[in-house]
Amino acid sequence: MKQITIGWLYPRLMSTYGDRGNIISLSKRCEWREIDVKVIELNVGFDKKQLEECDLLFMGGAQDREQKVVSEDLLIKKEILLKKIEKGVPGLFICGAYQFLGKYYKEADGTIINGLGIFDLYTESSNKEERLIGNIAVKTNEGTIIGFENHGGRTFLGEDAKPLGKVISGFGNNGKDGTEGLIYKNSIGTYLHGPILPKNPSIADFLIEKALEIKYKEKSVLKKLDDSLENKAKSVIAKRMSINL
Ligand code: GLN
Repeated sequence: MKQITIGWLYPRLMSTYGDRGNIISLSKRCEWREIDVKVIELNVGFDKKQLEECDLLFMGGAQDREQKVVSEDLLIKKEILLKKIEKGVPGLFICGAYQFLGKYYKEADGTIINGLGIFDLYTESSNKEERLIGNIAVKTNEGTIIGFENHGGRTFLGEDAKPLGKVISGFGNNGKDGTEGLIYKNSIGTYLHGPILPKNPSIADFLIEKALEIKYKEKSVLKKLDDSLENKAKSVIAKRMSINL
């Protein structure tokens, strides 16, 4: 039986909009395929060695206050996280977590929270601009994905950074350039809460497949699952947004 270990970074502080649903989705989709899953919760002060054994990484969103606390702990773990991501270990980083992977996050009052600089992007927030809130649809190479966004920060990608997709409806990275999220190696950064994975199972499977490939050093083809319920959930929101999937 194959096995993967999911490292859930800072669940106590970074889990604002039902991000636990992403962990449930990943775990269930493994279980249904008889892949053994272990989830390790990595809270502030966790031992770096615990990160070593992770095959898939996940971190959810938070408010600025929590982000400040987490950033101090996260910066200590930068080297090991960088090594993992560079090696192709898949990761999903939502909203505040996505911002952390970039160079910096500037809060509305001008305070700078240093990021890890793994993703080529920066984020700035300002009191003069509205928060970017609502349902969002994004066109990716693998099809349209749907979620919910709620962020004050505007993210700008570096020239060579690859966005996750193009905004069909909603705001995405900054509400201006039509990009949403970023994909680097096998890691995804995105503003899509929802949670994203139950409604977009192809992303969950991408992460699981890559985790197995990197761990077992062989191509992995996942057993197909019946996603009719997941697709239904997605089409309800798509309809509300007048979008054809
Ligand atoms: N604090 C960040 C912002 O508002 C992230 C919000 C979130 O993670 N939902 O931009």
